[in-house]
Amino acid sequence: MPARIPVLILGGGIIGTAVAWALAERGVTGIEVVDLDLAGVYASSELNAGGVRATWWQPVNIECCRLTLDFFRAHAEGFGFRQRGYLWLYGDAALWQRALEKRALQNAFGLDVEALEPFELWTRFPLLDRAREEILGATFSPRDGLVNPNAVRAFYRAGAERRGVVFRNRHYVSGIATARVAGAAGALRRVSHVDVIEVARGDPTDADGTVREILTSHRIAPAAQRGELRLEPETVVNCLGAWSSVLLAKIGLRDVAEPVRRQISLVDVHASDLPAGASFERLGMIVDASGLYLHPEGPHVLAGYSTPDEAPGFDFGYDGDAFFEREIWPRLAHRMSAFERCGHVRGWAGLYDVTPDCSGLAGAIAGFSNLFEARSFTGRGVMQSYAIGRAMAGLLATGRFDEVDLAPLSRDRFDDPARWIPEDLHI
Ligand SMILES: Cc1cc2nc3c(=O)[nH]c(=O)nc-3n(C[C@H](O)[C@H](O)[C@H](O)COP(=O)(O)OP(=O)(O)OC[C@H]3O[C@@H](n4cnc5c(N)ncnc54)[C@H](O)[C@@H]3O)c2cc1C
Repeated sequence: MPARIPVLILGGGIIGTAVAWALAERGVTGIEVVDLDLAGVYASSELNAGGVRATWWQPVNIECCRLTLDFFRAHAEGFGFRQRGYLWLYGDAALWQRALEKRALQNAFGLDVEALEPFELWTRFPLLDRAREEILGATFSPRDGLVNPNAVRAFYRAGAERRGVVFRNRHYVSGIATARVAGAAGALRRVSHVDVIEVARGDPTDADGTVREILTSHRIAPAAQRGELRLEPETVVNCLGAWSSVLLAKIGLRDVAEPVRRQISLVDVHASDLPAGASFERLGMIVDASGLYLHPEGPHVLAGYSTPDEAPGFDFGYDGDAFFEREIWPRLAHRMSAFERCGHVRGWAGLYDVTPDCSGLAGAIAGFSNLFEARSFTGRGVMQSYAIGRAMAGLLATGRFDEVDLAPLSRDRFDDPARWIPEDLHI
């Protein structure tokens, strides 16, 4: 017997959970979230760098992050929000010029971004003691910082559950079917049902590799299958992140985004190696001119680098010492003597869901009466989560974006290159 569900959210990462929470806060009932693995062992929401900033180059991205950071600030203690700023170094003249121009836009949103000339930069950040001649200047945004994404997602989930949202863990969305909407003009379709397979409960750390096998191969071994369900939702919201294309292909929708691996290393650095006056204690995120980013993370330093020629795919392999020695250590040591003899602790890989203009996808999917999406936030999903949740809840509850206007993030924009919203300032 198919289960009828008013609102079905596919994917319980930080975005799906934020949408569920915000919708429930509006008083909407009958919301269910399905996810293969709510522990999120391979979800981007659990594998990210925890950096949060409102300093982007596109107004919709600035506004979504500004609202989300305000929310994080209001819950700073619970979310581990540390307002320590983002320091962005520029070595390319055209990019530096653009950063100065965009600073005016960012400050119009009240972000207080400073432009630092080299002398002031070296005085305030003595850690950056190498290859100084390469750097033309930097921007520093003191209101940005770092957050604990797990605490944020847990907050959304607890709030959603308090308001009656049902989270179905270990449920894999295996199929989706559509039907023509009778009497509608054109070829309008609706999602008629969603098929879900319940998967055997495994080790929460996925030591047996079941979750990884399913998420990379999209197949479920018969022995892992515990049952099947047919869900008949009135409204469906796709929040499957980097796995969205697998679902959309089942209803003949060509996707515009693709999954791309991103790797992060944890680094050990000796306090005695820091230059005079330098400290990690109050440091936020630094984005180097080379594309490397770093911030203090507990007793270590977290450092990431997005390899430009990374092939798309569902790859969670961390390249270990090879990645650290090829991409991370040389860039760290090139800019900061403190990292000359640092050590590689460990690292991991997760997926970005990347669109052609590196901005997200949110809103109704054209051609469908009851299918919506909120996904593909590249390296920005945590820092946009609150605003995306609120905006999508408005759209689902009232039929329009009544709080935050996400119209620029509609997938229709890819029909016309003039409507793309290229976000160049991503890492
Ligand atoms: C290395 C790295 C660094 C990052 N750094 C930052 C940062 O500093 N700041 C920031 O804001 N963002 C950062 N991001 C991006 C951010 O993590 C993502 O944008 C965000 O987590 C996306 O959330 P989501 O809910 O859309 O997707 P996810 O968290 O990936 O959730 C998708 C969910 O869908 C489930 N799923 C998939 N397929 C199925 C299926 N068929 N059936 C059932 N369930 C399914 C998965 O189990 C998963 O739980 C980073 C990402 C990575 C990988």
